Amino acid sequence: MINPILIRSDFPILSRTVNGVPLVYFDNAATTQKPTSVIDALSNYYLTINSNVHRGVHRLSMEATEEFEKARISVAKFINAKSSRSIVWTRNTTESINLVAHSWAKKNISKGDKIVVSQLEHHSNLVPWQQIAMERDAQLVIIPISDEGVLDLSNIDVLLDSSTKLLAITHISNALGTINPVKDLISLARKHDAFVLVDGAQSAPHLPIDVQDLDCDFFVFSGHKMLGPTGIGVLYTKEEILLDMDPFLTGGEMVMQVWDQKASWNDLPMKFEAGTPNIADVIAFGSAISYLENLGMDNVRKHEIDLTKYALEALSKIDGLNLLGPCDTNNQAGVISFDISSIHPHDVGTFLDQRGIAIRTGHHCSMPLMHRLNLPATARASFYIYNTFEEVDKLVDSIVGAIEFFGK
Ligand code: PMP
Repeated sequence: MINPILIRSDFPILSRTVNGVPLVYFDNAATTQKPTSVIDALSNYYLTINSNVHRGVHRLSMEATEEFEKARISVAKFINAKSSRSIVWTRNTTESINLVAHSWAKKNISKGDKIVVSQLEHHSNLVPWQQIAMERDAQLVIIPISDEGVLDLSNIDVLLDSSTKLLAITHISNALGTINPVKDLISLARKHDAFVLVDGAQSAPHLPIDVQDLDCDFFVFSGHKMLGPTGIGVLYTKEEILLDMDPFLTGGEMVMQVWDQKASWNDLPMKFEAGTPNIADVIAFGSAISYLENLGMDNVRKHEIDLTKYALEALSKIDGLNLLGPCDTNNQAGVISFDISSIHPHDVGTFLDQRGIAIRTGHHCSMPLMHRLNLPATARASFYIYNTFEEVDKLVDSIVGAIEFFGK
C-alpha cells in the first residue's frame, strides 16, 4: 500500500510554494518530480566516478561502466525482458520510435504495406509513421475511437489484416488516460505476422509491464516520466529483431572494427548507441527504477485508481464541466481530461496556477485526437505516487472557483 504522505518527504520540490501556497503538482503525464535518491545518484556520479564508459582500464571508468550496465539490467528486469541485450538507451520515447522507423521500418516496409496506428496517438507515435508511409508508399491506417475515447474495434479485422506490416499503438493515451487492450491487439497482429510497437511512455511509469507476456516486438518509454532524469529513454526490442536491424547513428562506440573504407558493428546493444552515452542520467534512472520497485508497481496502479475514482466522482458533479475519456478506472489510468464549455482551458490552467495547482492545458501533442473530439484543447490533471486526496479536493474546489470567477 502506498502512503503518499511518507513518499512526499522524498521529493524536495513538493515542499515549495507557488504563488504563496503549497504546490499541487498534477502534470505528471508531462514529466514527474524526482526523489532525493535520483538527484543524489546524479550528483554522486559527478562527485565520485565521473569518467567515460566501456573503454577505460582505469578504476573510475570501470566503476562508471559497472553502474551504467547495472541500470540496464534493472530496466530489463523492470519490464521482464529476457536479456539486457534487448535494452537500448536513447534520449526519450520519441528517439526510440524514430530509431525503429529508421533502422527497422525502412528495411521492412514496402509499397502497399499497412502501418496501423490509432486515433489516440501522441505525435511521437504518429509523425514518424506518416514519414515512413510517404517514403515507402505504404498505407497509414488509423483505428478510430468512440466519443468516450475508447478504441472502436468493430472493424478491426478490416483495418488490421494480412497486408499489415506494423501495428504501432499507444498503451495508454497521454491525452485521455485510456488504457488500450494492447495484449488482444498484439495477438491479432500475430495472426497476420505483423510486428508490434507499443508506446509505453504512459504505461511503464504506472502499470506493471511484462514485455514477454505482451509479446510485443518493440516497447518504448522515457525515464523522465517515471522519476528519472530527462534525456534518457528506452527502446526494448526482441533480440533477434535487433540483430537484423541496421544502426541508427554511426561513429564511435557502435563499431567493432574500422578500416579505411568500411566498419563492422559492435555487439548488442552497443551497435545502437553511437558516441558517449548519457552516463549520469542512465545511472540516476537506475535509482528511479529501484524506487518504483521498492513501492511495487501493483501498489502504484492501485493508488492511482483510488485517486482517479475519487477525482472522477467529484468532478462529475460540477455543473458545466465535461469529463473526457472513458471515466472508468478499469480502462483509464491516472489521467483526467476535461473541458469547461464557458472557459478556455488555458484560462482554467492559469486560474489554477494562481492557487498553486499545476495542470496541463493544450492539445497534448495529439492534434488529430483534438480534431476528432472537436476541441482545440483540453485541461488535464495527471496523478502519481505522491499525490493525495486532499490535493484532489483543492483541484475540485479551485475548478468550482474558476467557473464562478469566469461566469461573472
Ligand atoms: N508517447 C506518449 C504517449 C507520451 O505521453 C509522450 C510524452 N508526452 C511521448 C510519446 C513522447 O515522450 P518524450 O517527449 O519523452 O519523447
